[in-house]
Amino acid sequence: MTDRLKGSAPRRALASTLVYAATGAAWIVLSDRLVAALIADPSLRSTVQTGKGWAFIGLTAAVLFIVLWRQAKSDADSLAESRRQQAEIAALSNFRLSVIETPQVWINTVNAAGEITLWNEAAERISGYCRDEVLDHARVWEWLYPDPTYRQWVVSKARSIIEGVEAVQLETCIRTNNGDERELEWYSRQLRDADGQVIGAVAFGIDVTLMRSTQRTLQERERELSALIDNLPGMAYRCLDDETATMTFISRGCAELTGYTDDELTASSHCSFWDLLVDPADRDSYLMQQRIASGQRFSLEYRIRRRDGEVVWVLERGCAVVIDDQPLIEGIILDITERKRMEQQLEWLATRDQLTGLYNRRTMDERLRDELARAQRYNRPVSVLWLDLDNFKRVNDHYGHQVGDEVLRHLTRRLQDAIRDNDLLARYGGEELIVAMPEVGLEGALEAAERIRGIVARDAYDASEGTTIRLTVSIGVAAYPEHGHDMDTLYRAADDAMYQGKQAGRNTVHRIQPTHPGLTVPD
Ligand code: GH3
Ligand code: MG
Ligand code: MG
Repeated sequence: MTDRLKGSAPRRALASTLVYAATGAAWIVLSDRLVAALIADPSLRSTVQTGKGWAFIGLTAAVLFIVLWRQAKSDADSLAESRRQQAEIAALSNFRLSVIETPQVWINTVNAAGEITLWNEAAERISGYCRDEVLDHARVWEWLYPDPTYRQWVVSKARSIIEGVEAVQLETCIRTNNGDERELEWYSRQLRDADGQVIGAVAFGIDVTLMRSTQRTLQERERELSALIDNLPGMAYRCLDDETATMTFISRGCAELTGYTDDELTASSHCSFWDLLVDPADRDSYLMQQRIASGQRFSLEYRIRRRDGEVVWVLERGCAVVIDDQPLIEGIILDITERKRMEQQLEWLATRDQLTGLYNRRTMDERLRDELARAQRYNRPVSVLWLDLDNFKRVNDHYGHQVGDEVLRHLTRRLQDAIRDNDLLARYGGEELIVAMPEVGLEGALEAAERIRGIVARDAYDASEGTTIRLTVSIGVAAYPEHGHDMDTLYRAADDAMYQGKQAGRNTVHRIQPTHPGLTVPD
């Protein structure tokens, strides 16, 4: 276009000059003839000729001025346009450069022969190969992908783009110049010339080595965590901080703990973990709510009913968390039934007498002290019966110690049945037993003692070989406040009374003379 313009300019200039020369010559010849024909006077003709000459000069000067002025204006416009275009081209070129040389994205182009035709700075930095080494060669493929099978796969992908697939997205692992391996995510597409012919391919690559390794580490950690969570001797959970602690996540251990699958307790609307609680109040304590609200860890023990109906004890440990602005509770729930059973067993062993299963001396002392404190606080009576079996040694001597044990067990069962639920029966040692009777005054205690004495006296234990063992008991009675205000004084008073009974011939109920007045409050 520009060349064509350039070629026509001299022709146009020549044509204009010829037109001017012809017009001027025609004007001079024709006007001279016209003047000569019209004006006869030589001096006037000369003047007119001169004037005509000046007029011609003036006219042509005006035309020349207009032409030159228009030309100059057109040149100035062209120059401005050309400068603008140059600036645009420079900006475009800068833009292209800055896009190509973007530091994060590897950009390279290849021609149909697989030779590198563009290799940007990011490509240099990531691969470690500089432009001079790779441009106009196809050898970089071998450097980047030393393994022939792998290289073949990558090259086939690149070739598929040139041969027709418009764009390809893939990930490859390259070997860099310093021997490192880096993972790149590629987007590659056809490269066409101005006529639309495919002349190669352009590839945009992003180094995702760090991202992929972080992803792999995270996946590995997640796998480890879920394996850990799934192998917990219980279940991990995440629930909403709502009224029924709606579960949003439950680990697989749920099935073993509850008999329900995790899906059943999270996704189902008619069955939730909350429904398994034997007593929802267990989990609903004010203290726990406070701890959740303040973000402290909480820990509580309660019972749940499994799908098969069995009730198990669980320990829940958790704390409040906020995830995506949502307040949640996370924690673990462990089966502690066995621990509870052992605790109960230990507690039983610590508080009970091994032979009879009655409370032991220590427990009786503790309970009686508590009862006395309460009695004093509320001005209520408490009584104590001290029982000692009569001539028990003879049973041992006659039937053997083992039968003696059996008789003891048998009698204590009878006594346990004979007393009220509120009363406490303990084996204080040997064949001595104590009954503590809260809320029972001296008279009531004497009546109860008499009843017990009668039960023992009427009872018969069937020993082997048809023999029957009959026993009696001596009972001493003491009561708060008549016989004392503290446990030891009451024990002593009851023991003394029992001893008096022994001396009086056994199988009796006795009390010593009260040292304090009785209660004045009505029952
Ligand atoms: P009494 O009380 O009427 O004076 O005569 P007793 O024969 O019962 O004499 P005492 O209370 O002093 O003796 C208690 C006897 O009880 C001594 C022991 O042979 C027997 N005894 C104590 N503890 C046990 C026990 O755990 N098992 C058996 N089989 N006998 C016991
Ligand atoms: Mg005794
Ligand atoms: Mg005795």
